[in-house]
Amino acid sequence: MTTAYTPPSPGSKIIIVGGGCFGLSTAYALALKNQYEVWVFDRQAIPANDAASCDINKIVRMDYANDTLYMHLMVEAFGLWRQWNKERAEKDLGPVFHQSGVLLFSGKDKFSDFEKDCMKNIREAGYGHFIEEFTSPEQIIEKFPQFRKAVENGFNTAYLNKEGGWCNSSEAVKHIYNKCLELGVNFVTEKDTGCLSSLYCDPKDPTAVVGIKTEDGKIHYGDRVLLATGSWTGSVVDMRKQVVATGQQVIHFQPPQHLRREWEKLPVWCGDLSNTGYYGFPCNADGKMKIGKHHSGYLNPRASDEVSVPRTQVTHIGDTIPIGALREFREFMGKFLPETTNLDISFGRVCWYSDSVDGDFVISPHPDYKNLLVACGDSGHGLKFIPIIGFKIRDIIEGVDTQYSRAWKWRNMQTQDTKLDGLRADSLLQRLILCEENNADARMCHMDEFKASFKHQNTAKI
Ligand SMILES: Cc1cc2nc3c(=O)[nH]c(=O)nc-3n(C[C@H](O)[C@H](O)[C@H](O)COP(=O)(O)OP(=O)(O)OC[C@H]3O[C@@H](n4cnc5c(N)ncnc54)[C@H](O)[C@@H]3O)c2cc1C
Repeated sequence: MTTAYTPPSPGSKIIIVGGGCFGLSTAYALALKNQYEVWVFDRQAIPANDAASCDINKIVRMDYANDTLYMHLMVEAFGLWRQWNKERAEKDLGPVFHQSGVLLFSGKDKFSDFEKDCMKNIREAGYGHFIEEFTSPEQIIEKFPQFRKAVENGFNTAYLNKEGGWCNSSEAVKHIYNKCLELGVNFVTEKDTGCLSSLYCDPKDPTAVVGIKTEDGKIHYGDRVLLATGSWTGSVVDMRKQVVATGQQVIHFQPPQHLRREWEKLPVWCGDLSNTGYYGFPCNADGKMKIGKHHSGYLNPRASDEVSVPRTQVTHIGDTIPIGALREFREFMGKFLPETTNLDISFGRVCWYSDSVDGDFVISPHPDYKNLLVACGDSGHGLKFIPIIGFKIRDIIEGVDTQYSRAWKWRNMQTQDTKLDGLRADSLLQRLILCEENNADARMCHMDEFKASFKHQNTAKI
């Protein structure tokens, strides 16, 4: 049975569990109304080390092929990113949004459907001036000589979206956290006192959530509870398979000065994303260059019920990335940016998506409970919306019907309907189990295997 949801009345106490992108953005939007008491609980100090939103950078793109809902949402968010940069400049803080452009490569000689649909929809919406479409491989090389080898190796069609770029996501989280503090949002962010251990329901009505219980055994009463627990959500409440925690690998290089100077000038790039999954960033101010793979990801099922739970460098110190993922990174980068072949990988981690069945967010009252909402299902593309998403989530909390509340509603989709976000090449069936016994590809690699020399001397091993 589905329980009816009633929006909170003025004066209500709203508890948000999770101080990442979705949770903080919501806390800020709610606090702006000045009519609720807003509390945020997190299991770690913000930004939580192993939260998806805690990172050196994330792509800020409006290129969403036929998912134009997100394209329009991004257009709305661009203005707020610029406003954030302004606010920060006034306080002598560096920008959080960097308009480097996003360069979307396709494979040999023609654009893939994804890139074609992106350009079509962006132009039809009146934003064609953001796009610089290259009409020959030479044009790409002329504009970005750093990608000569990529072009020669078959990534020879591309367009640049000049409006997009990247954000420093940990800084963005801190920025909105500070805005929340200024507005009087209350925070409890410690391992025991801030970590939700269970929902707390009315003893007379087990479907009515009246608060949360934290690891220290304390009960915190609230009129509404929003779970914004990212990839942990499926392990906190029964999500009826609407979302699954999937692990996605990222690596960093720390190139020497001469390459660093060249790679600082790169735009964000997507290396035929819908077919390969690979994307990357320019070197940041610390000289770190991040590369990631957007794919169906790894699972980490827990013994009790097979629900996939994040396995991170906080829960498993010393974890890196699976050896199979390392081999694939080296293989791809060997073609795309061959200069990396001689570089050690300086860092690697598995970062977790709350992957929904169809790639759309899941932001909705939970059908099994009164007073409970979830904001999850980020599917690996939520951070770019941190300045705006909270306003849309606030609408959902307040029961306002919008195109977003309709798109992100509880959907009762089955896992066999999985299409992810239409951008990922490999299917659900290819999801590997992280560190599965007897799977040579799934074990974590050792730091010495990150070395360029290791790869050269031991190709057969990896
Ligand atoms: C590898 C990778 C690359 C990505 N790249 C991009 C990109 O380029 N562009 C983009 O827009 N997006 C990107 N994303 C997605 C983006 O990071 C997410 O959409 C966004 O961070 C989701 O925010 P969230 O608040 O739902 O989750 P999170 O940021 O993970 O926050 C969840 C919070 O809940 C807390 N929590 C969990 N359980 C509990 C509990 N029991 N009690 C209390 N607190 C709890 C955690 O500590 C954490 O702070 C990427 C994600 C990954 C993993």
